[in-house]
Amino acid sequence: MINVTLNNGVVMPALGLGVFQSSPEVTADAVATALSTGYRHIDTAAAYRNERQVGEGLRRSGLDRSEVFLETKVWVSDYGFEATLRAFDKATRKLGVEQLDLLILHQPAPSRFDATVAAYTALEKLRADGQVRAIGVSNFMPDHLAELMKRTTVVPAVNQVELHPYFTQPAVQKADSEHGILTQAWSPIGGITFYPGWGEQRRSVMDDPAVGAIARAHGKSPAQVMLRWHLQQGRSAIPKSTNPQRIAENFDVFDFSLADDELVMLDALDTGVRHGPDPDINRADVFDMVIPDA
Ligand code: NAP
Repeated sequence: MINVTLNNGVVMPALGLGVFQSSPEVTADAVATALSTGYRHIDTAAAYRNERQVGEGLRRSGLDRSEVFLETKVWVSDYGFEATLRAFDKATRKLGVEQLDLLILHQPAPSRFDATVAAYTALEKLRADGQVRAIGVSNFMPDHLAELMKRTTVVPAVNQVELHPYFTQPAVQKADSEHGILTQAWSPIGGITFYPGWGEQRRSVMDDPAVGAIARAHGKSPAQVMLRWHLQQGRSAIPKSTNPQRIAENFDVFDFSLADDELVMLDALDTGVRHGPDPDINRADVFDMVIPDA
């Protein structure tokens, strides 16, 4: 296990389990399996509609609440000061916990940036009141970060962005580190380059020959190599799986090290092409998705 210390002193396990596209039916099992494997960090979101099952998995694990780092996200339809305070209540009721370890804005809404700022101001209040231990953002590009920080007080602890060897976002990583913000990789093993339903023209980073060669050299899998790359470069990573073997595989990354030239080879695979949604594009239909009450 590797821990990272956030910019407000809170300690977070760098590797966590993601649950995007984990159906409610299998999420509690995946979370309980991960926690029995050794994971101590779960990343969910109001928009994933499985916070309740994440809470169930946590309780089923028998671990004390204080032993698990819980991260969730506020969806855009809940942006605004009062609405975001209510979003905290919805999330904690579903998860069955009183306090969150990390609460982040799921993405900037450039067409509703005043509401985005008001939402972040609510996160600042939740943090000041001790209801969340750390606050942050997701999918914020350097200009969104700069604008947010101009208008708010607390520097985000985390910026969770698409980041895998085919899309390494050097400008975002640079801006994050200049401000003391931890970069957290979503799709850390490149899920968005291969999971079904996201366009057929994609090239899976899992099948990349360079990743494969490094994996063979270490007797590890491509996923393990990518996770090691994140950890050695100081990022947090939250690979998703609902399969017990792959959940275990993704946590078995603490017994080997990549050499500097291997890290450089992985960095060099960057195509500069985003696979997920462009954070600058307004997606009114998606933004307006209603998050039900607990
Ligand atoms: P990912 O973790 O990179 O990849 C997940 C995919 O890889 C799933 O299809 C999974 O299938 C498969 N997989 C898992 N372990 C594997 C292994 N060892 N070998 C081969 N295949 C493997 O992608 P992601 O789910 O997009 O990202 C991870 C987490 O980031 C999400 O779950 C979510 O928590 C977060 N996220 C955040 C945002 C955002 O906007 N903030 C966007 C996307 C994701 P199985 O389940 O069948 O193993």
